[in-house]
Amino acid sequence: MRRAKILATLGPSSNTPEVIDAFIAHGLNAVRINMSHGTQAEHSDNIKIARAAADKVNRPLAILVDLSGPKIRTGILKDKLPVILVNGANFVITARQVEGSATEVSTNFTDLPSLVQPGASILLDDGALELTVESATETDVVTRVVNGGLLYERKGINLPNTALPIPSLTNKDRQDLEWAVGQNVDYIALSFVRKAEDCIEAKDLIKQHGGRALLVAKIEKAEAITNLDSILEATDGVMVARGDLGVETSVELVPVYQKRIIEGAIAHDKFVITATQMLQSMINEPRPTRAEASDVANAVWDGSDAVMLSAETASGRFAVESVATMCRIIEAAEAGNPVGSRKILKYTGEITGRTSRALCKAASIAAEEKNVGKIAVFTESGLMARRLSSVRPAQRIFALTSDVNVRHQLALIWGVEPIFHPLSESTEQMLKGGEETLLTAEVVESGENIVIMAGRLSGLGLSSSVVLSTIGESVPRR
Ligand code: PEP
Repeated sequence: MRRAKILATLGPSSNTPEVIDAFIAHGLNAVRINMSHGTQAEHSDNIKIARAAADKVNRPLAILVDLSGPKIRTGILKDKLPVILVNGANFVITARQVEGSATEVSTNFTDLPSLVQPGASILLDDGALELTVESATETDVVTRVVNGGLLYERKGINLPNTALPIPSLTNKDRQDLEWAVGQNVDYIALSFVRKAEDCIEAKDLIKQHGGRALLVAKIEKAEAITNLDSILEATDGVMVARGDLGVETSVELVPVYQKRIIEGAIAHDKFVITATQMLQSMINEPRPTRAEASDVANAVWDGSDAVMLSAETASGRFAVESVATMCRIIEAAEAGNPVGSRKILKYTGEITGRTSRALCKAASIAAEEKNVGKIAVFTESGLMARRLSSVRPAQRIFALTSDVNVRHQLALIWGVEPIFHPLSESTEQMLKGGEETLLTAEVVESGENIVIMAGRLSGLGLSSSVVLSTIGESVPRR
């Protein structure tokens, strides 16, 4: 049973029923809708296709909508063809609407010329190209190419040393957030988060629109690293957004921050996704490099809930192979060096004072002591299953929920196997019904010992309890 989950970005290479069916058959757990590209109408169609594909095989599949954020981009190029930027040559970034060439390109951020200083560094395409500002007019930034190369259309522009007065939630993000809530999605990711207040504002907006989506704060700015603890308090989960993080800070700091973010997230009972360039060479090649395989495995061993595919599945030539390859790498990594078990003390060592964590620690330690390999958790909102996942128990986690939305949402969470289970009226019915659900799902056998737990359940005796049970006996041993 694979414990780390796979999140794949949809795009032109993958927005058909056939490809999404194949993704799911190869183990996909969640899809990412990237609002930086395409229209809401196109994304609505893709969400419909993804949901239909999951329903067809009765598999939970989480939907994550990634808001563009204040991403500054270059504009279109003549005939959509890439241009070559030559070292030492001048290159203009302009607020004028032009079809780009080897000498100039437009930008969606028309205030740029008034905000740059001579000598400032401008990075294009996740830092692949580097320019230095020489001068600026009302509409144009004149730069000199320091590190040239091929520039494609609509690539990201980063200014690592320039403070830009742009809010984390743009008007487009606000519209997209409302649309995402209308689509009943499971997760909404906020780009370029700087501080806890950004998360609080986004969570308030989700609530105001009547949404249930959990918030993912994308950690990709130096300021977010400085404010990591308060961001982790304010958000539901985080993404190690290594693409922009490597440009906004520096590439050698990415692995340092990756470990710090993952460890911090787990300690705060928050989920964490590691993203970007995980199998980058598979955009064009059928097999990954050894370094990429090691990168995925290390992200799993660091404790990621999920690892993400970006261009590999959105626009790559080997989208299905990328999902299948990622699945095999995770399985081999977990078989060779399980994340749960031996590390349990690491994950349960933090004293948080939370009742939920006390119950989850109790469940996993009781299971270990009794040599029981499975824990079933009754959860309506999904919170207790997420908390149990955060102690990274060695045992399999079955989350029993009567909420079909929660079943899909939990698909992204480390180790959680979400199963639909109708609400019970009494404690006895709950335990008996739970056992029947597990037997029907063929994840337990009669006579097998299991740990059963629940969070706060109004009126039921199992509320905030951990019990040891034998399947078929239905009488818990307290
Ligand atoms: C990233 O920067 O790594 C990331 C995931 O964000 P985006 O793909 O939106 O640039």
